[in-house]
Amino acid sequence: MTTSRFDPQAELSDDVRSRFYIGGHWVLPNSKETASLVSPTTEKSFLSVPLADRRDVDDAVRAARKAFDTGPWPLMSAAERSDYLRRLSGAVASRMQLLSRLWTAEVGAPVWFADLFTPTATAMLEYYAELSLSFPFKEHRQTRGGHARVLRQPVGVTALIAPWNAQLPILAYKLSAALAAGCTVVVKAPPETPLDALVLAECAHEVDLPPGVLNVITADADRGAHLVANVAVDKVSFTGSTATGKVIAKTCADRLARVTLELGGKSAAIILEDAELEPTLASLSPYTMPFSGQICFAQTRILVPRNREQEIVEAYSAVIGGLNVGDPWDETTQIGPLANRRQFDRVLRYIDVGRSEGARLATGGKSCERFERGYFVEPTIFSGVTPDMTIAREEIFGPVVTVTAYDDVDHAIALANDSDFGLSGTVFTTDVERGYDVARQLKTGNVSVNGLEMSPNVPFGGFKQSGVGREGGPEGLSAFLEDQAIYLPSEAQPSKLA
Ligand code: NAD
Repeated sequence: MTTSRFDPQAELSDDVRSRFYIGGHWVLPNSKETASLVSPTTEKSFLSVPLADRRDVDDAVRAARKAFDTGPWPLMSAAERSDYLRRLSGAVASRMQLLSRLWTAEVGAPVWFADLFTPTATAMLEYYAELSLSFPFKEHRQTRGGHARVLRQPVGVTALIAPWNAQLPILAYKLSAALAAGCTVVVKAPPETPLDALVLAECAHEVDLPPGVLNVITADADRGAHLVANVAVDKVSFTGSTATGKVIAKTCADRLARVTLELGGKSAAIILEDAELEPTLASLSPYTMPFSGQICFAQTRILVPRNREQEIVEAYSAVIGGLNVGDPWDETTQIGPLANRRQFDRVLRYIDVGRSEGARLATGGKSCERFERGYFVEPTIFSGVTPDMTIAREEIFGPVVTVTAYDDVDHAIALANDSDFGLSGTVFTTDVERGYDVARQLKTGNVSVNGLEMSPNVPFGGFKQSGVGREGGPEGLSAFLEDQAIYLPSEAQPSKLA
């Protein structure tokens, strides 16, 4: 096993390694606390970074508040902000390779995966730059007494909180919409993967984003809670576990702060009886455990017709058992390590639970013994899984997939919907209209027929305990806006109104 091929001293600026970005400046933290970044491949620390204390959190909120209340940002035209977003996208594009490498260094995403999905960041910035040029920030409506101007105003100071697994793409969804809306932002980067957000701050500084519009601190859960509780924060946009989402929602409810929650998933892939196995497995397999299953939309419950169960389990196990598990820096590696020790222990615990509850191991089922170091777990498939089993109900967030047999299509739909979650889902069939008909009966925010796609212009988010609200598309922009209606007498001329 090679060691990490990333040298933070050489590849990152001193600002990114040791400071926070607040009010347009790189500032030394008040706090003396630090977090150690540990390579999932070598289990060795490769960098120590500062962690915010409450004063740092409050400083960031104050800067965002000032920028919103007295700065130019919320008052700019959509076209002016669009121009900033494009320039920010350009600055991010010029650091694409670095940002991709950070994903591999911090969480062990294989290089092919990181290279493929890091450009999500520029795609989101470009999308919202374009959308804001045509979005109806102002509308004019006739009323009985005259007219009403309906304004979509920025919601205010927003706190953006994302998990460690895919920090940059998740942040890009939030940040690009928040900025396009005219909000100011405090990003609380997670202690496991703080560097991406700080590199984004470097980009913002380079394009002269007005001071205080973007503020970035690295903080743990406790300081995250302090940020959410700050009354100067108007909106929280959170991605993470359902458990944390509920805590955040309760805090926001106290003052009715706006909140968007993108939470966990336990998504079902329904293979209909008419599906051809080879193309189905070719398009399904990458999404059952992408990035070692540490993605919210992973298709982790595979539902198969009972009369094809054995055939599908054998073919799918051969595909998954043949994946190349190894060093994420190696171009040929398909599955890398889990991101950290906590994940590693958690996933192995779930595998034990699966066994003890009577599920059959079709492939995998333990840590990879051939590696002396690193958080490697074999890609694992359980068959004979019933819907009451823990591994069919709880989000494992690892390379562990369950196969459950169904009797007919209605049973498949009922099984898919028998979940507290409702984030994603897939249907595989040779009859795409029938696939659509099944898809619309699934209680989940996103469903793809014969594959899995996510597009910047389409809303993403969850039903049930997978979340509240949407990101992406015009819906994601609306989430950072408040509707304001201004009634005017009939003599007011629309052309004279700002
Ligand atoms: P987590 O909920 O533990 O932490 C997420 C973030 O919230 C981190 O930055 C953490 O520091 C912060 N945090 C924790 N407690 C907080 C509190 N009380 N107040 C404010 N901030 C707090 O989640 P995790 O383990 O880092 O991430 C994995 C989870 O994220 C999984 O459940 C996964 O499904 C989910 N996820 C969802 C999506 C989506 O779009 N729906 C995308 C990716 C990941």
